[in-house]
Amino acid sequence: MEEVPRTTVRAPRDPGVDAAAGSLRVLATDLDGTFLGGSDHDRAELYARFRGERPGWRLVFVTGRDLPFVQGLVETGLVPAPDFVIGDVGTTVVDAGFAPVDAVQDAIASLWGARSAEVMAMLADEPGLRLQPGDWLGRRRVSYYYEPAQLRDSTLRKVEEAGLDWVTSADVFFDVLPPGVSKGPTLRRLVEHQGWDAGRVLAAGDTLNDRTLLLEGFPAVAVGNSEDELQRLVTGVPHVFQASRQGTGGILEALHHHRLTDLP
Ligand SMILES: [Mg+2]
Repeated sequence: MEEVPRTTVRAPRDPGVDAAAGSLRVLATDLDGTFLGGSDHDRAELYARFRGERPGWRLVFVTGRDLPFVQGLVETGLVPAPDFVIGDVGTTVVDAGFAPVDAVQDAIASLWGARSAEVMAMLADEPGLRLQPGDWLGRRRVSYYYEPAQLRDSTLRKVEEAGLDWVTSADVFFDVLPPGVSKGPTLRRLVEHQGWDAGRVLAAGDTLNDRTLLLEGFPAVAVGNSEDELQRLVTGVPHVFQASRQGTGGILEALHHHRLTDLP
């Protein structure tokens, strides 16, 4: 991979101001297996397009990871710095300086309230669930590891009857989320807040927690290494391209497929 400057975290931009917002193009991508996936050659090619100034383009990471992980990744310089991060499976939204985009995040916070403790108590003894390490009280989700063979339908019903949503991913991760909140709806909120053209947003992902990201209605791509269940859900959906190449290779394919190729 090429040498890159170390000062990758750029000055925060006023999230309410995006000059010529309607003409911008946006890559809104999952990280693990998607923007971090693919061959060395494909990663280098895609990342080079998004290094430094990129007039006409915005880069948004949309991930299940938390902000310390993303910030650490960006600070290594191994990936281009994003303009925005949607983290914690759609429950956190920050700008390039990792400051909250309050106008978007506050609406999500109000849907969660302060329910972390209640969720942890409710699910403490449910079979097949193991709480992920972390301080969940200050967050807008609670996340578990799960065993697909042990997780019970009755557990899922408990979450739903509490008025909350759940999402599984990669047969490993189980997240309890505010109602109606996940990667896709949060990206929609950010796109509307920024005044971006939804038809110029490419959404990219590879696992089941990317389902709402790919099915939200934006031009989208399920990269070649996508989970079988995700592939099944997007098959036949006209705005979702099923790439053959893995990770970043699939994103490069999709930029051509969706005619979003005028990269800087
Ligand atoms: Mg992924």
